[in-house]
Amino acid sequence: MKSPVHSERYPDSFYVATAREVTEHPRLEEELDVDVCVVGGGFSGVNTALELAERGYSVALLEAKRIGWGASGRNGGELIRGIGHGVEQFAKDIGQDGVDAIGRMGVEAVEIVRERVARYQIECDLQMGYCDLALKQRHMRELEEDQRFLEGIGYRHETRILQRDQMHQVVGSDRYIGGMVDMGSGHLHPLNLVLGEARAAREAGVKLFEYSPAQRIIKGERPQVETPRGKVTCNYLVLCGNAYIGHSLEPELGGKVLPAGSYMIATEPLDEAVARQLIPENMAFADLSVALDYYHLSADRRLLFGGLCNYSGRDPKDITAALKPNLERVFPQLQSVRIDYEWGGMIGIGANRLPQVGSLTGSPNILFAQAYAGHGVNATHMAARILADYIQGDGARFDIFASVKHMTFPGGPALRSPLLALGMLYHRLKDLL
Ligand SMILES: Cc1cc2nc3c(=O)[nH]c(=O)nc-3n(C[C@H](O)[C@H](O)[C@H](O)COP(=O)(O)OP(=O)(O)OC[C@H]3O[C@@H](n4cnc5c(N)ncnc54)[C@H](O)[C@@H]3O)c2cc1C
Repeated sequence: MKSPVHSERYPDSFYVATAREVTEHPRLEEELDVDVCVVGGGFSGVNTALELAERGYSVALLEAKRIGWGASGRNGGELIRGIGHGVEQFAKDIGQDGVDAIGRMGVEAVEIVRERVARYQIECDLQMGYCDLALKQRHMRELEEDQRFLEGIGYRHETRILQRDQMHQVVGSDRYIGGMVDMGSGHLHPLNLVLGEARAAREAGVKLFEYSPAQRIIKGERPQVETPRGKVTCNYLVLCGNAYIGHSLEPELGGKVLPAGSYMIATEPLDEAVARQLIPENMAFADLSVALDYYHLSADRRLLFGGLCNYSGRDPKDITAALKPNLERVFPQLQSVRIDYEWGGMIGIGANRLPQVGSLTGSPNILFAQAYAGHGVNATHMAARILADYIQGDGARFDIFASVKHMTFPGGPALRSPLLALGMLYHRLKDLL
């Protein structure tokens, strides 16, 4: 049951135990010349590679461990519309048009995932239906605002605000004062999604390599990337290592993204009647606090429950002991339920909570996408499309993201986690008000 977060192999998660398409890919042991080299085999990297291969580019993808080994194969699987948080604050950099464009991209992002699942017949238990959960009146006001925004952009999916006495229609918990149902968001098995997308990429001609960490980048007119036993030369290099990129490969990126741990547990399969009482309409849920709980049922009726973001850089010794009280706070009726799996992964957090998409200073042919915080299942797919459009000559949406300035955290790796811990403590205290 134990699941080391940082092991070389896939963690012993519920997702790995129920993975459908695990294919081993070779190590890079040659010198390759391609149009585009992508570093990182999560949603960002795999989808950038797939988008480009679909458009006729030759692509190599280098993954340090296994495809989907990072956050993409470990996350809560909640496919929630929207990109970034408080996007209005960037109006001075990107104008109101830019803010509106990001709002629309937050909807398109979910459509990309749905199209991909349908087109490549990816069996990843995609289920539409999601509910934001309010714990205080301020959250209800935010949800009402959100609903007005969605109506304003012509959102074509049903949304409905629920008051406290209506919450049992969707969740068997007394914890919430209300919520907003969104039938255009949902949940899925994230490892099966990324593995299915990797299969599609391979079939489209992408050369995928595992256990092939990018160790050194040589910048220039045609960038080069070295791995322990090989080298790739390319026209464009795209860096998608997100929270796992580390500081040494490219300090400009590592300094802008802080890794924070998030953790999950999976219960034993629940009786059908119990599952129906907890979550009658099989939706996904997340509450609106900073230290949020998120959960949904798996296809075999386990409750997959996540939360407990850890900014110290140290994983809890016992994930179940740390997380189960949160589960019981939501569902006291599950006090004696058995926990079959526990695991965690690293989320990449930027200072302003807008995903970072751009090119390295002085290297317009070295691109990157990272820092989606806990909201990357959809946003990674959008980032991949934006990067592919840019490489194909359409930089309009890339430019919106690239013109937002992102702070480099001071003090190098040693100081970054304590700084983040302090910053998040501030947000949690604000949350209590
Ligand atoms: C526990 C948890 C729960 C979450 N829940 C949700 C959720 O419910 N909904 C949601 O929208 N988001 C959620 N997220 C966030 C979401 O998973 C991420 O934003 C998203 O998966 C990021 O994808 P990525 O491809 O950018 O990065 P990753 O999936 O982390 O992939 C990066 C990959 O790059 C590789 N890599 C790094 N450096 C190198 C190198 N030098 N050479 C080669 N390869 C390298 C790594 O090995 C890794 O496989 C959650 C995250 C976690 C950890």
